[in-house]
Amino acid sequence: MDELRDRFWELPLAELNRTEWEALCDGCGRCCLHKIEDADTGEIEDTNVACKLLDTETAQCCDYRNRKAFVPDCLRLTLAIVEEVPWLPSSCAYRRRAAGRSLPNWHYLISGDREAVKRAGVSVAGRVVSETEAGPLEHHIVDWGAPKVAVLNEEPSGNEPA
Ligand code: SF4
Ligand code: SF4
Repeated sequence: MDELRDRFWELPLAELNRTEWEALCDGCGRCCLHKIEDADTGEIEDTNVACKLLDTETAQCCDYRNRKAFVPDCLRLTLAIVEEVPWLPSSCAYRRRAAGRSLPNWHYLISGDREAVKRAGVSVAGRVVSETEAGPLEHHIVDWGAPKVAVLNEEPSGNEPA
């Protein structure tokens, strides 16, 4: 396994090793939710319906290593496509870094706190329903809103607010 370099999250995405790439994820779970795309306009709406493999209480994949065996169309986010996935949330660490933005203060790599993503209102933990129980997606359209800014006791220097 590759090592995590000091402040690797400030490096261009193209320079990250595989371990650093994986570690960049904030664990919000937003990319594991179903979306609805308007066939005419291409507009994408979010839903609170989760992939069957997502733990709805923690927003973590129950079997990330073997997920493709259960969910063949699970998207593997790579450098080549990160700028072409229109439904990634604006808070997504990969999307932010691809756009040259720094990580937000609630990201665990900045805050040192894996729970801060929940206090920021970015994590979907405890806010979603599994596709195995949800019924029609059209009944589950949601607007996740913008991240909250004041989620930490101290504002780290050198990073943008959320
Ligand atoms: S939206 Fe981005 S940061 Fe959030 S879980 Fe998915 S890949 Fe990770
Ligand atoms: S298989 Fe796992 S990583 Fe892929 S969408 Fe489902 S919960 Fe997310």
